[in-house]
Amino acid sequence: MIMNPHTTRRRFPNNTKVVARFKFIDMKYDNIIIGGGLSGLVCGIESARSGRKTAIVSAGQSALHFWSGSFEFLCNEDSRIVIDHPLERAERLDESHPYRKIGVSNVSKLLDRVLPLLREAGIKVNGSLERNHYRLTPFGYSRPAWLTLDEYLSFQSPSELKGKRAAIVNIYSYLDFYPRFLALGLSKLDVECVTASVNVPQLDILRKSTTEMRATNMSRFLTDSAVDDLAREVNRVSSDCDMVIMPAVLGIFDDEPVNRLRRGVDRPVFFVATTPASVPGVRCQLSLRDYFTSLGGTYMPGDTVVGGEISDGRIRKIYTSNFGSIPLIAENYVICTGSFFGHGLIANMDKIYEPVFGLDLNAPDDRTEWYDKNFYASQPYMGYGVVTDEKFRPMKEGKVIENLYATGALLSGFNALKEGSGAGITLATALHAASCITR
Ligand SMILES: Cc1cc2nc3c(=O)[nH]c(=O)nc-3n(C[C@H](O)[C@H](O)[C@H](O)COP(=O)(O)OP(=O)(O)OC[C@H]3O[C@@H](n4cnc5c(N)ncnc54)[C@H](O)[C@@H]3O)c2cc1C
Repeated sequence: MIMNPHTTRRRFPNNTKVVARFKFIDMKYDNIIIGGGLSGLVCGIESARSGRKTAIVSAGQSALHFWSGSFEFLCNEDSRIVIDHPLERAERLDESHPYRKIGVSNVSKLLDRVLPLLREAGIKVNGSLERNHYRLTPFGYSRPAWLTLDEYLSFQSPSELKGKRAAIVNIYSYLDFYPRFLALGLSKLDVECVTASVNVPQLDILRKSTTEMRATNMSRFLTDSAVDDLAREVNRVSSDCDMVIMPAVLGIFDDEPVNRLRRGVDRPVFFVATTPASVPGVRCQLSLRDYFTSLGGTYMPGDTVVGGEISDGRIRKIYTSNFGSIPLIAENYVICTGSFFGHGLIANMDKIYEPVFGLDLNAPDDRTEWYDKNFYASQPYMGYGVVTDEKFRPMKEGKVIENLYATGALLSGFNALKEGSGAGITLATALHAASCITR
């Protein structure tokens, strides 16, 4: 067993209730996925869909909870120059980049599965790998994207919006949405804007405390007749406009409230991301989880994989906080624990490490090399992650672990922020791992 100094304290807690419940359950799987963010869920869905007995162990929040509403494939060169044709540009990436390791034409084939998979899960997005489109950011900028939620304001070219009149409609006393930034940004695209805020009595209960007026809280109240009331108010303030732009605060469990509002308003309604937590992001996470479990997958929420046994180059079993000394056993394992944000990588004063298996990383020991003092420069730590072979199997002490695959933000060889490539790499490597573990 790997005795990880950073996790041993929480390895065998007194979880007698959990242990008693699962003592006689068969904890053997074909595939176990560690981490239930975008990459873990997509990999788990493909594994379960192929008939493999699959479990996902998921510790907590993922990047999806902060989702902008768009998936990026390859959007920017040096953070600034916009890439129009991402597949063409991907061919010129460094050979160590995940897209080049899979092969750009293979990436394109793998990603053909994304739109149908998301639609099967009830997530409606649009876009193409051939050409990036734009979405409107909460601060009124146009930002390139690969796929964007149907309900969001997106456009192929800013000229599409020219000459339109938009009503930017906020919810009264909601502070995490910035109509004036949006109006300023849209005015640069020759869109004339009016701003308004509307109220529905169903939200009054949240206004008792300003901290309660958050997107995820509001979405729980904005259902059924509250949506009809909201639609009436929106119609009242937008009668002389071509379109309505609102904060994305509807539909945390499914998109029915969004569709209901759109049916009730007399002109097209589009949404713009708010300050996190992201309501569409939570919906996306829940929809993927539900799709996974509907395919027979076992989802273990709120549990953390804390270590495992490796012998002869293979993982034999893993241990989690909740199951304590009861191991989980599988043929294959996929590690999808994210980067620093997901706690897939941990940085302390002395080192950066991968906390589950102690996998090899491309991070140097000298912490002064981790960052650039110029805050706006490309930060080296953004490119750190696990080192893998060409099949994305991680290494430990220079040796490949044969039945372990790594995906998503945990990988090295790219800077998602600088390139605008986070979801593309996540989805491509998740589908690549799924193809390996379902062979
Ligand atoms: C805040 C934020 C917002 C982003 N927004 C966008 C966006 O809008 N569009 C875009 O294209 N890209 C975005 N990205 C890039 C993002 O990294 C990818 O799009 C993608 O969502 C990463 O998915 P992941 O599954 O690899 O990692 P994560 O989403 O980080 O998920 C990792 C999961 O593993 C769990 N986990 C960690 N350790 C363990 C363990 N030991 N045991 C069990 N579970 C564990 C974590 O709790 C977490 O749920 C964003 C990134 C961040 C950090």
